[in-house]
Amino acid sequence: MNHLVNDIEVIKSKATKIHDVDFDNLAFGKVYTDHMLECNFKNGKWEEPKVVPYQPIILDPSAKIFHYGQSVFEGMKAYKDNNDDVWLFRPVDNFKRLNISSKRLAMPELPEAYFMEGLKTLLQVDKDWIPKKEGSSLYVRPFVFASGKGFHASPADEYKFIIACAPSGAYFAGKIKVLIEEKYSRSANGGVGYAKAGGNYAGQFYPTQLAIEKGYNQVIWTDDVNHENIEEAGAMNIFIRINDTLITAPTSDRILDGITRKSIIAIAEDKGIPVEVRTIKVHEVVEAAKNGSLKEMFGAGTAAVVSPISGFGYKDKDFSLPELENNYASYLKKRITDIQTNKAEDPFGWRY
Ligand code: PMP
Repeated sequence: MNHLVNDIEVIKSKATKIHDVDFDNLAFGKVYTDHMLECNFKNGKWEEPKVVPYQPIILDPSAKIFHYGQSVFEGMKAYKDNNDDVWLFRPVDNFKRLNISSKRLAMPELPEAYFMEGLKTLLQVDKDWIPKKEGSSLYVRPFVFASGKGFHASPADEYKFIIACAPSGAYFAGKIKVLIEEKYSRSANGGVGYAKAGGNYAGQFYPTQLAIEKGYNQVIWTDDVNHENIEEAGAMNIFIRINDTLITAPTSDRILDGITRKSIIAIAEDKGIPVEVRTIKVHEVVEAAKNGSLKEMFGAGTAAVVSPISGFGYKDKDFSLPELENNYASYLKKRITDIQTNKAEDPFGWRY
């Protein structure tokens, strides 16, 4: 039977798949909940969103997503606390960034109510899918793509906005080893690096595969001009600790304005950790590794949370980082996840 939740129509799935899921051994983003939010853009406007059973999408072979890659997405997490209350982390920021990404790809921007009410309704309907186990969460994937037809290389006239969810465990198991990129680029000045556009990720896969073949987990992207500056990782922003100072690159049109990044900066400053947001030279990091002042490196992003780096490769040499007992990464990871999962006060007002 169809009914309305938060004024949003809900068409319930006939059966649940939840009993097939091993919630104690969740991979990342591999199983999907019973429902999804669907919203279509037609005739120049967004139609009302609906929660429908999770199902394949039928598209015309000429749909512009296939040819011109008009596709943007977001990544967020929903957490359940011990009272079974459900929490999101700065969701309006994801909504705003989705529209920033859409705008850059000449795609229509969504009304905030469709995103937020749609998200809340979907999470209410699939609430039982939100894991409670520490380190697990419901990964939420909102995305917009061109469903409109045509081989003409121009923006589509029809789009779909979908939110799909996957109960998930950790993104990386343990520390990661990274390769500082010397040849390929993920983004350029004036490009789409600041957008969460599907094509940004497609372009990273080949260089990342080469890095994985050499024994690394991830590429650290450098600037596209001279590969002299550390920018960010595949799906994370990068933090570097030299002596006691935590450094991260400034956002630009080449770097994604990460929600975890800006939260980590605020938490670190609140704790009295010296933070510098500035250009980080690769040679500075190599020098610091050689003279022992490089204490920590870690990635920060929704999926990977805070992901410590054990070492990096650069110009065919490997550099390893020390094991510090009182490291920033562990403190910052615990502090942000305690806020996200309602285990601690949220002085910043981020929890939703
Ligand atoms: N950089 C890139 C390229 C990403 O895809 C992500 C993940 N969204 C991040 C950084 C981290 O952003 P956030 O903390 O908002 O997840």
